[in-house]
Amino acid sequence: MANQLQPVRGTRDLIGEDAARHFHVVETARRVTALFGFSEWQTPIFEDTRVFSRTLGETSDVVTKEMYSFEDRGGESITLRPEGTAGVCRALITGGLTQTLPQKVFYAGPMFRYERPQKGRYRQFHQIGLELLGPATPIADADVISAGWRILQELGVAKDVELNINTLGDAPSRENYRAALVKYFSAHATQLSEDSKLRLEKNPLRILDSKDEGDKVLVEKAPLIYAHLTQDAAEFYNGLKSTLTAFGVPFQENPRIVRGLDYYNHTAFEFVTNALGAQGTVMAGGRYDGLVEQMGGPNVPGIGWGAGIERLSMLIAAPPKAAMPVAVIPMNGEAEARALEILNLLRGQNIAAEIGYSGTAKKRLERANKSGAAFAVLVGDDIKLKNLADGSQEDLTLETLVERLGA
Ligand code: ATP
Ligand code: MG
Repeated sequence: MANQLQPVRGTRDLIGEDAARHFHVVETARRVTALFGFSEWQTPIFEDTRVFSRTLGETSDVVTKEMYSFEDRGGESITLRPEGTAGVCRALITGGLTQTLPQKVFYAGPMFRYERPQKGRYRQFHQIGLELLGPATPIADADVISAGWRILQELGVAKDVELNINTLGDAPSRENYRAALVKYFSAHATQLSEDSKLRLEKNPLRILDSKDEGDKVLVEKAPLIYAHLTQDAAEFYNGLKSTLTAFGVPFQENPRIVRGLDYYNHTAFEFVTNALGAQGTVMAGGRYDGLVEQMGGPNVPGIGWGAGIERLSMLIAAPPKAAMPVAVIPMNGEAEARALEILNLLRGQNIAAEIGYSGTAKKRLERANKSGAAFAVLVGDDIKLKNLADGSQEDLTLETLVERLGA
């Protein structure tokens, strides 16, 4: 067909098994996080651009290249949210909740980044995520990570995934470390990518997260943060590791994890897999103690993670198909009204049922068979329950029908 409309590049429809996988991930996360005491929030999918530009860091990939920003009809600069944390913190402040702590937030929904689409990378993608606002103890970090680990276990993907953790230290640790990085990278400045030359001036830590192959070679020999940690920061990191061990969450230390956004301190972590090619990070997060204050609120520490639902959906086994509704079939024109009554009654008893809408009884039965329904209720002068798997039939009263189909 000429001029047929197409989905926008980097977006996808959730239909059939794709939808089943997606919602299985969301429902599993919702159930597990409730066990950990989290409540679900939903914040708007667009925000004042400054919610992101002021917080994610002016040298982060998301802010420099990936944001979907536009001016609305009133001249306001609006951005489709590229991630979930900034919006939750904005809501904490504007909702007057900064004195009602802790807040334990679960969210699920679409995020938007202008990236080059490929397997596991889209322009509209979806995340589940957690934010734990208030406590600044490593137990909180371990609890949030442990909830993520439990979700991956329940999804049956834990065996394919490895948890990498790191510390970014506190402010004084980072100042020490920053100086060491500037010294090291300045000595190799000519070999740095253009992006990283800029990062060297603005935020040298960000170079460690560069995807440029040349940068990566330099990064391999760059100094590690561990020698630059203050005693407080080292203690925090040790507390995280011992609590993870107590919770039975296996982890690897990885000094190269710095995370792509500027607002992190202390804990940074990623759950990674080899099963998805280049798009290996499935769940990622860290501690962001300065973020709420940076957004104009009081000092409220926080820790959280976000996980790509598309990447998780690709890792899980296909969820079991839901049972098809019972087909209610009028055997002739006169039985139609009675069939509708029975349809209504079954649904009122929480029994999934549908009616074929049109066609002869024979046609409707054929369609019911094709749909994979287990039973048909044949409504004529009497009521028959037909087992569509083996073709057997039994005469039933309305009461016994409900009994047979219920629970
Ligand atoms: P990557 O290094 O893959 O670009 P990121 O560091 O940008 O990831 P985060 O901002 O930490 O990712 O987002 C958390 C998670 O969201 C990622 O681990 C990934 O599972 C998912 N994610 C991020 N960007 C996309 C995208 N464009 N399409 C699909 N999933 C994504
Ligand atoms: Mg990215």
